[in-house]
Amino acid sequence: MEEGCWDYSSLWDETLRHIKENITDQEFLMWFKNLAYESSEEKLISLSVPSSFYRDQLSQRYQSHIEAKLYELQGTPIKIQYLIKRKNAPDKTSENASVRLERSTPSQHTTAHPQLKTEYNFENFVIGENNSFAANAAIAIARNPGRAYNPCLIYGGVGLGKTHLIQAIGDATHKALAGYKISYVTAETFTNEFINSIQGGTSHQFKKKYRSVNILLIDDIHFLQNKIQTQEELFYTFEALYNSNRQMVFTCDRPVSELKELTDRLKSRFERGLNVDLQPPDYETRIAILKKKIENREVNISDDAIALIAKNITTNVRDLEKALTKLTAYADLVNKNITLDVAQAQLKDFFANPNQRKITIDTIQRAIADYFSLSHNDLRGKKRTKAIAFPRQLAMYLAREMTEYSTTEIGIEFGGRDHTTVMYACQKIENNTKTDSSLEPIIQSLKRHIREYKISS
Ligand code: ADP
Ligand code: MG
Repeated sequence: MEEGCWDYSSLWDETLRHIKENITDQEFLMWFKNLAYESSEEKLISLSVPSSFYRDQLSQRYQSHIEAKLYELQGTPIKIQYLIKRKNAPDKTSENASVRLERSTPSQHTTAHPQLKTEYNFENFVIGENNSFAANAAIAIARNPGRAYNPCLIYGGVGLGKTHLIQAIGDATHKALAGYKISYVTAETFTNEFINSIQGGTSHQFKKKYRSVNILLIDDIHFLQNKIQTQEELFYTFEALYNSNRQMVFTCDRPVSELKELTDRLKSRFERGLNVDLQPPDYETRIAILKKKIENREVNISDDAIALIAKNITTNVRDLEKALTKLTAYADLVNKNITLDVAQAQLKDFFANPNQRKITIDTIQRAIADYFSLSHNDLRGKKRTKAIAFPRQLAMYLAREMTEYSTTEIGIEFGGRDHTTVMYACQKIENNTKTDSSLEPIIQSLKRHIREYKISS
């Protein structure tokens, strides 16, 4: 026994009881069920967790809360540390669904699922403010397919982790549930298979195949717009699976309500269960993602170089990965250590032209004018009626958010206004988002509209 006279086990039990009272059952089940008391030393409690994923999540989400509770109960500060104890052997003591995921018994699926990428699993997915709702929903679904949230639709822009998350659900259930038929397809593949089945006279097999799965994962359903026959087929597949409590998860690049050319009945099915969104990662999450990706790559990148990337690449995770790939290649070929200077030199072009920089103030003005049915000149002109002033302020705000122009430059583009007018507009919109919760979705939708406008014009 290494603990001497320190034994905090009952203190820990008490702390856990308090925590349980303060969070939802689901949260407790998700994060605390797999946590076990191991030992204590003076002012330190060691807890075991089944993976680094749990360790990272617990320390991100609950560390300060747990330590504050311990302090409150004990009257002196006590730290906690996590030990990783992998559960590779079958766990005989518990048949609890919450541990099923972390376990891989030899009798269960040990071969990879042919449609899934092995690295798209929950362990590799970093959870931050921007994606925690979607990620936790995905984890809950993987633990309890067909019961927790059915159907589930995950939406968000390109490179934010939709494919990763939907495949992680497939990966976790494939490993844990032998005998489960799990089908992952993109909406495009689904459509092509359907068309081929009609042409080849095998539509019966097609129907049978998709209506007999236990879990159906369809990626990028925005592709189904205008594909009326495929939509109809998916509608009937949906009904069949839904009525027998089979889990369905979909992803989409925007909220379902913004899909055009999709039948109302299919829309209403997608909206029936849980709809969760993915936002671009904030600075801390970008750092955490970069560190996670570096772990798997065997490359030495200094902390200030990591901070440089996180500061300059704000668009999405795919762009972060591209920067890392470039640095990894450089490290392999030239220099094992990536310092701040090396990163700066190697990523110069990258920082100079990410997609977002190509958006011009002119594009923003045209897209906003179009959206509010105003003329381009209205936005740049002098009129100050409310119908124009608000879209103009929004356009200034978005110009500040989506481009690198200064408030002075933006003012010039808006009919030679002063930079303080631009600052005022940005401040006003920002304040409005705090008091009016309907504004944020409008801003998100405008941003999408601007990006699409850029492509289409
Ligand atoms: P989407 O389908 O939304 O376009 P992907 O799922 O393909 O995006 O993600 C793009 C890349 O970014 C993938 O390589 C994925 O592993 C990675 N990625 C996205 N979000 C995360 C995250 N939270 N943690 C780790 N990697 C992520
Ligand atoms: Mg994708």
